[in-house]
Amino acid sequence: MLFKYSVYINIMINVIGAGPAGSFFSLNAKDSVRIFEEHKEVGKPVACTGILTSAITDLINVDKSFIANRIKRVRLIAPNEDYYEFKLKNEEIIVYRDKFDKFLIEKALDKGVELYKHHRFLNFNKDSKIISEFETDKGKKKFSSDILVGADGPVSKVAQASGLFVNRKNWVGKQYTANFSMEKDVFYVYFGDVPDFFGWVVPESDTKVRVGVASEKNVSLYFDILTKKLKLKNLDECQAGPIPMYNPKNITSKDNVYLIGDAAGQVKSTTGGGIVYGMRAGKILADCLNNNLDYEKEWRKELNKDLMFHLRIRNFLNKLNEKDYNDFIKVLKNVDLGNFNRDYPLRNLGMFMKPSLIGFFLKNFYKAI
Ligand SMILES: Cc1cc2nc3c(=O)[nH]c(=O)nc-3n(C[C@H](O)[C@H](O)[C@H](O)COP(=O)(O)OP(=O)(O)OC[C@H]3O[C@@H](n4cnc5c(N)ncnc54)[C@H](O)[C@@H]3O)c2cc1C
Repeated sequence: MLFKYSVYINIMINVIGAGPAGSFFSLNAKDSVRIFEEHKEVGKPVACTGILTSAITDLINVDKSFIANRIKRVRLIAPNEDYYEFKLKNEEIIVYRDKFDKFLIEKALDKGVELYKHHRFLNFNKDSKIISEFETDKGKKKFSSDILVGADGPVSKVAQASGLFVNRKNWVGKQYTANFSMEKDVFYVYFGDVPDFFGWVVPESDTKVRVGVASEKNVSLYFDILTKKLKLKNLDECQAGPIPMYNPKNITSKDNVYLIGDAAGQVKSTTGGGIVYGMRAGKILADCLNNNLDYEKEWRKELNKDLMFHLRIRNFLNKLNEKDYNDFIKVLKNVDLGNFNRDYPLRNLGMFMKPSLIGFFLKNFYKAI
């Protein structure tokens, strides 16, 4: 940790990546911040379904400019096509990820953060300062800083350059937009066709959906199974990308280099959602640097229990076969999941205390060990 004396010393922070984690960190940091983004345009290309629970309102004021759709119901579909549908107590939003990312970076720029687009981070050297090297449209350039923040996504070059990219595993999310009509206020989750994740159909509008699957292997095969099931032919824009698997052993800081968001693997293993957790980690890091606190300790204190809950549920679900999933959907019908918020999974755990659900977990418990 960089020690600040009682006389305030302004330090320079270089942030790699203008995604939600990097922008939200920058918005909350007190020191001078530069953000470097490898693409010419923030938010593009998109590799995300853009589902946000109401937890986003604890972080920012939601702005109409980036909302594509509002979700009131969720349908969980079993391999035998039986389903359980629940009504959300608090609606979820579907965002245009490019507009969402632009909204966040604009907020950071308004605060005085500097943005360098088309600057791809390559590596760094450490002397009295951290000297980072970038590939730009005008050749290679170097920028020095006191602190380097890797907010550069699931295959983080900062994590690699600092030796923190160890034991990382990803799912591959394969998603397309497609013309397809369905009710606009519900999204579908398909269980059982993918062994280690699920498939989804999420409406962006009355006529357009985001359809995808994720898996560690054979993702194209599972994607074809889902699109055949839906008789979907006209696929539009491909929005695929890696999704990190949470590993509590990941070390996320070393000698004034810090990782946040996907770069740190701070993603829900049940759903692959990482926007809210990445932003929360960004805020925690900013608070730690502002107040000389230990980031490694603080983010674990706030996020690890939630992320472990998601990881354990994922490990359990990945042991279920098709018949188990059919039984699972049947027993879920006795539970009202409308109050469950995936970004605060340990609140309202009482809702799961239904004899049929407990019985299902106990019956299948040995599989998760
Ligand atoms: C198919 C799919 C669907 C998803 N759906 C959802 C969802 O519905 N809800 C949800 O919450 N999450 C979802 N996610 C996960 C979500 O996209 C990530 O968790 C989130 O984007 C992480 O934010 P971040 O800021 O950490 O990283 P990113 O959003 O990946 O941002 C990293 C930024 O760093 C830049 N960058 C990378 N390398 C360099 C470099 N060397 N130099 C400079 N810049 C660099 C990138 O261009 C990018 O702008 C999905 C992911 C996938 C793949």
